[in-house]
Amino acid sequence: MRYVSTRGEAPVLSFEDAMLTGLARDGGLYVPETVPTMTSDEIAALAGVSYEEAAFRVMRPFVEGSFSDEEFREIIAKAYAGFGHEARAPLVQLESGHFLLELFHGPTLAFKDFAMQLIGQLFQVALAKRGEKITIVGATSGDTGSAAIEAFRGLDNVDVCILYPHGRVSDVQRRQMTTPSESNVHALAVDGDFDDCQARLKDMFNDFEFRDEVKLAGVNSINWGRVLAQVVYYFTSAVALGAPHRKVSFTVPTGNFGDIFAGYIAKKRGLPIDQLVIATNQNDILHRTMETGAYTKGEVTPSISPSMDIQVSSNFERALFDAYGRDGKAVQSQMADLASGGFTISQGAMEFLKEQFTSGRASEDETSAEIKRSFEATNEVLCPHSAVGVKVAREHLTDTPMITLATAHPAKFPAAVKDACGQDAPLPPRMADLFDREERVTRVAGDLDALKAVIREKIGR
Ligand SMILES: *Cc1c(COP(=O)(O)O)cnc(C)c1O
Repeated sequence: MRYVSTRGEAPVLSFEDAMLTGLARDGGLYVPETVPTMTSDEIAALAGVSYEEAAFRVMRPFVEGSFSDEEFREIIAKAYAGFGHEARAPLVQLESGHFLLELFHGPTLAFKDFAMQLIGQLFQVALAKRGEKITIVGATSGDTGSAAIEAFRGLDNVDVCILYPHGRVSDVQRRQMTTPSESNVHALAVDGDFDDCQARLKDMFNDFEFRDEVKLAGVNSINWGRVLAQVVYYFTSAVALGAPHRKVSFTVPTGNFGDIFAGYIAKKRGLPIDQLVIATNQNDILHRTMETGAYTKGEVTPSISPSMDIQVSSNFERALFDAYGRDGKAVQSQMADLASGGFTISQGAMEFLKEQFTSGRASEDETSAEIKRSFEATNEVLCPHSAVGVKVAREHLTDTPMITLATAHPAKFPAAVKDACGQDAPLPPRMADLFDREERVTRVAGDLDALKAVIREKIGR
């Protein structure tokens, strides 16, 4: 399988190279040259198989040429072994025709584990074959950092350094980053806010000498390997509800557009999906774009669903690429306009997007009200992100079964949950000792030289 850039000018790469590279050299994102479709019979045959087996069958053609079947099976087995639920992504019913896909049973209690755990194992095998060692550096406002640490902890060929803003992440989030004891894990508490962390990270990637010296790599949400991992649970959940013999719809709490783009790939791969509904919080750039065709940056207003607080939705570029008939030049020119505030999507491209996606938004009050309503109606305690999804999904119910993706466990956002419905949201038993574990963290000034020195020291190079 070959991968091309959405801006049309970067080299065509294999799965392995696209994954290890992340961002394409022309500033674009890698997408598969073609998406092979599964037949109805192949989809029907997923009924009753394990999550891991379904994952193998759905993802296999995308890694062709990079991993053997045997390697890939073992990678998948290791990736999902640490999940706290046998089904990996269980489905529960909320009301007639409406189901919740629980994607929060991984090691950090959010759906990002599905992608990160797989990426960790893929990197490990690819690097071992090449005899290379790399340094993953990431900046986080909370969830992504812990998911990356859990994915790479204890792996031989990778050091993982995560920058987070000192004093500005929740206690659960901090402890998830500071308590792993493996020597290749380095939590760095940076003086400053999340934007400072991101800016320093960018500085490091632009410091080519340092970048080469420590073999810097990133695993942010534009990595194709992450999108691919997320395609699988669209299949397993739809098949559980009768696909391919009947259609299903999905509603996806959306920020960077990675998760819902995976749903779009599932559809291209042959899954009969009726609606794909984008659900945003008050930071509703994607909803506004779907309504007006104008993609314009605003200010981020912090919300109780912080993982969806975005200004620019990076994976949206992948959808635009298809909307413009895979014309890299057209994407390039829109992205150039984004730098100066925004762009207007052409009528033809908008028609394409509207055929593929619908959208809705939930305000802060509506999100809290949904947490309360869901708890009273079903006893299900939703995290704020999932509540945004459920609220928007309820506005899109038809005769086709609707699956809303629950992206995080309520225990990650206990204050918002308690305020909304009066319920405590305890950590699952396997994590109950999180607050007793020893923390290990290095405080660093928010400047590039200090960070470079700490990273060199930590990785011992
Ligand atoms: C990252 C995240 C999202 C948004 O997912 P995207 O792929 O960025 O659209 C939603 N909910 C939670 C809990 C997340 O961590």
